[in-house]
Amino acid sequence: MTTNVIDAKDFKKMAPVFGQLSFDEHEQIVFCNDKDTGLKAIIGIHNTVLGPALGGTRMWNYESEWDALNDVLRLSRGMTFKSAITGLNLGGGKAVIIGDAKTQKTPELMKRFGQFVHSLSGKYITAEDVGMATEDMDTVREVTPYVTGISESKGGAGNPSPITAYGVFMGMKAAAQFKYGSDILEDKNVFVQGIGNVGEALVEHLVNEGANVTIADISQERLEEVKNKYGATIYGGNDIYSERMDIYAPCALGATINDETIYKINADIIAGAANNQLADEVNHGRILQERGIVYAPDFLINAGGIINVYAELENYDRAEIMRKTENIYNTTLEILDRAKANNLTTHNAALNIAKERIETRRRENTK
Ligand code: NAD
Repeated sequence: MTTNVIDAKDFKKMAPVFGQLSFDEHEQIVFCNDKDTGLKAIIGIHNTVLGPALGGTRMWNYESEWDALNDVLRLSRGMTFKSAITGLNLGGGKAVIIGDAKTQKTPELMKRFGQFVHSLSGKYITAEDVGMATEDMDTVREVTPYVTGISESKGGAGNPSPITAYGVFMGMKAAAQFKYGSDILEDKNVFVQGIGNVGEALVEHLVNEGANVTIADISQERLEEVKNKYGATIYGGNDIYSERMDIYAPCALGATINDETIYKINADIIAGAANNQLADEVNHGRILQERGIVYAPDFLINAGGIINVYAELENYDRAEIMRKTENIYNTTLEILDRAKANNLTTHNAALNIAKERIETRRRENTK
């Protein structure tokens, strides 16, 4: 009888998943494929030590399946640390659906996706992310209870984006307190890149506080809409990263702080909603530190959304959601101080605390 044993050395060479950088000891990765509905999705379950892996589903027209895999691995890992640092009893997971949300998303496709989620028996709980709306979560709810972010009329906590924006605003104010000795954002020049669900709500907070807000988006329609509503200025240049600004708020997609942009960025503070803003969290975190740019870690300040959906599982009310989200201010300030005192990047200071909490629970669980 011949056995098909692969030599460990060869396996490493041919390991495109376990060997790639964004793979960080993920517990499970599920590839979902359905010919009838055209569903191609990947669910990444990074870590379930603190609880079920909760994280949104993103629908995006990825250039390649590798890009989709890389995205889900980075996002699900980020969720682990986001929930850990926020003190929630949740693990980290995320899903991506490959396709154009505007033209390819159908109720059948969403239900089929929901069935895949259901097959994991609650180990992964989904929610909305880019390309998803509350109604899509309602559709998923028809086939599985393992979904959050459903409509308030159906017993859910509703759209998490305004809460996320409020948390980002709190994190931004804490960063301002750290940098300028005052958290008042009046007259500060803030660039909000991406004015979708979260970006728009953030613009509203900033305008109410008297900040000078400049907005950038790939959608001209959104720009006009948000400009007319709040009186923000539409960015007219062609390289936002070269502009002088007090605060840069990335609220579109991740990895905008990368090799090409990092030495151009001319801001005092970076504080935004996008997940995985640092293309390389070690090197880019260090360069920001060296350049004196205060970076409010994304997974810390954009946790409002997860706090909101967690309320659906734990049955806490709106007042508690707001209290927990407001606390992002204190946690951010604490982490910025800790990073400075220990000469760490702010990203690492936050990551260390999250990892410590997971490790403590892991030890308790194995006792
Ligand atoms: P959204 O899809 O509503 O908005 C994204 C916006 O970014 C859109 O208006 C889009 O046109 C714009 N955009 C895309 N590419 C761009 C580019 N290259 N330059 C400028 N604009 C661009 O998404 P959202 O729900 O507002 O989320 C924004 C970010 O925040 C995402 O990275 C998401 O993962 C993250 N986030 C969202 C939540 C939440 O509660 N919605 C929670 C945590 C993190």
